[in-house]
Amino acid sequence: MSKKILIVGGVAGGASVAARARRLDEHADVIMFERGPHVSFSNCALPFHLSGIVENSDDLVLMSPQQFKKQYNIEARVSSEVVKINRDEKTITIKNLETGELYDESYDHLVLSPGANPIVPPLEGIDGPNVFTVRNVVDIAKLNAYVQQEGIKNVAVIGGGFIGVEVAENLNMAGYNVSLVEFANQIMAPFDYDMAQLLHKEMMDKGVDLVLSDGLAKVEEGSIELQSGKTIAADAVVLAIGVKPETTLATEAGLELGETGGIKVDHNYLTSDQSIYAVGDAIEVYHKLTHKPTRLALAGPAQRQARAAADHMYNRPHRNTGVIGSSCIHVFDQNAASTGLNEKDAQKAGIQYDFVYIIPGDKVGLMPESNPLHFKLLYEYPTGKILGAQAIGKGNVDKRIDVIATMITMGGTLEDLKELELCYSPMFGTAKDVVNFAALVGLNILNGDFKQVPVTQVRELVENGAYIVDVREKHEYAQGHLKNAVNIPLSEIRDRLDEIPKDQPVYLHCRTSQRSYNAVMALQHLGFENVTNISGSFLGISLYEYFNDQVNDREKIVTDYNFK
Ligand SMILES: Cc1cc2nc3c(=O)[nH]c(=O)nc-3n(C[C@H](O)[C@H](O)[C@H](O)COP(=O)(O)OP(=O)(O)OC[C@H]3O[C@@H](n4cnc5c(N)ncnc54)[C@H](O)[C@@H]3O)c2cc1C
Repeated sequence: MSKKILIVGGVAGGASVAARARRLDEHADVIMFERGPHVSFSNCALPFHLSGIVENSDDLVLMSPQQFKKQYNIEARVSSEVVKINRDEKTITIKNLETGELYDESYDHLVLSPGANPIVPPLEGIDGPNVFTVRNVVDIAKLNAYVQQEGIKNVAVIGGGFIGVEVAENLNMAGYNVSLVEFANQIMAPFDYDMAQLLHKEMMDKGVDLVLSDGLAKVEEGSIELQSGKTIAADAVVLAIGVKPETTLATEAGLELGETGGIKVDHNYLTSDQSIYAVGDAIEVYHKLTHKPTRLALAGPAQRQARAAADHMYNRPHRNTGVIGSSCIHVFDQNAASTGLNEKDAQKAGIQYDFVYIIPGDKVGLMPESNPLHFKLLYEYPTGKILGAQAIGKGNVDKRIDVIATMITMGGTLEDLKELELCYSPMFGTAKDVVNFAALVGLNILNGDFKQVPVTQVRELVENGAYIVDVREKHEYAQGHLKNAVNIPLSEIRDRLDEIPKDQPVYLHCRTSQRSYNAVMALQHLGFENVTNISGSFLGISLYEYFNDQVNDREKIVTDYNFK
């Protein structure tokens, strides 16, 4: 007898389970229930409708129920909310949202892929017609229609995660005055505070009013009030402060939840009921690196889980490798990507780590559109096992991060990354790719070849009058330098050794740390025992300091910045 597979949710996870089940079994009865009017739409492309990159909201819908029926013989019932799971009878109760009719369907396998809901805090004015969330095509079309009304100029986006940043960027590109309010002291949590400064600068440069360490308190007509008491002009407000897994159906049916609040699943995405699977944003997953349960609201994992669940229904084995969390985002002219653990994650998980921060060119410098690529690589101390990476730049950061994601998945170390043979031509990269380069620096640090301090400690060094040597050429120094740095170019350093003290720590930097690394090594060989490289050097310092200098109106530690 053929199987009957019912699926709750018809987008990333739901549609993927349905398609995979059909490929494995031409005779199965596959029915997808979707509460909204659309199945299989591109959630990830929703914000791009606001700038017109995706001109028509209809284009966000990838497949209609008719196409599902014709091409895959899958029934997609839209405007159909599953309101109850009757586990004893192995049926679900569905409400037809157009007619109000309630009816039951039986299942052999039930798959829950209901996703996650935007969090809406109970604040004054939050129910107003000027407050929006972004989850589906209806939401984005509604927001776009609202802001296009005559007179709408100011939009406040609350929350600096992926959705908030993308919405802010696309509204800014459409010509609105956009404020982005974030409760934490940085946007984009997958990045560490130091790397996030590059994104802060980019937002600020492009005219987004970025307000950090503050939260929404109240929505009024034409403005919002923040917890600090600050008022911001806002004709429309977009809430993007996070999502919570949709677990109501599962909870009411007595299915077990995990400690993070997501639906608990086993190796094969089976819930505590052996006839019910759950996948996607609603579930709790296992983190490969922290070995702890976590939640991960990303499309790739949802689709992989969906395939694994369908495979399990047909006795196909699947190796559950856990998640590492790989993601990327476009922030105006910068691309940003990350994978695995950042410093905050490693500290929380109690993992001993060290990191390198390098800024090589993303291509050979002679090539058009060669740009610095800011790359931070975390590895476990003392094993050198690769834990994570963050990359920001105008070039292809995703390629570099995908290499690191592969390394992490395969349990790679700095040695493996150093030896990794990657393709090269000047238009694409450098012979020693950014990722190889990061491994070499990491190994040097791990082997104790030299010491380094991060850009985050430079302000303290400057304020405490540390002895800092800037080894860039004189004309570079003249354009902007650390206030108390002494300029001894690398090309002169061997002739000016008597200017460098031996009885106190000496910190060296150049533009990106390549020349200062060479200077540090030379000095060490010449008998200087207390020399330290400043990782990130003047470019990294300038970018790290800039945003806080502007918003906090504090004294600069540089005479002028260098961002190139
Ligand atoms: C604006 C935006 C941008 C994003 N960008 C990215 C990105 O760039 N990269 C990335 O990896 N991820 C991105 N994501 C996240 C990604 O879309 C989700 O991780 C993925 O869609 C999760 O799949 P899912 O099937 O669990 O949930 P969803 O795709 O959200 O599908 C769940 C569906 O279930 C329906 N549903 C819920 N309960 C019921 C019920 N009781 N009955 C019937 N139907 C029900 C809901 O209406 C919903 O349509 C983005 C998400 C958003 C909102």
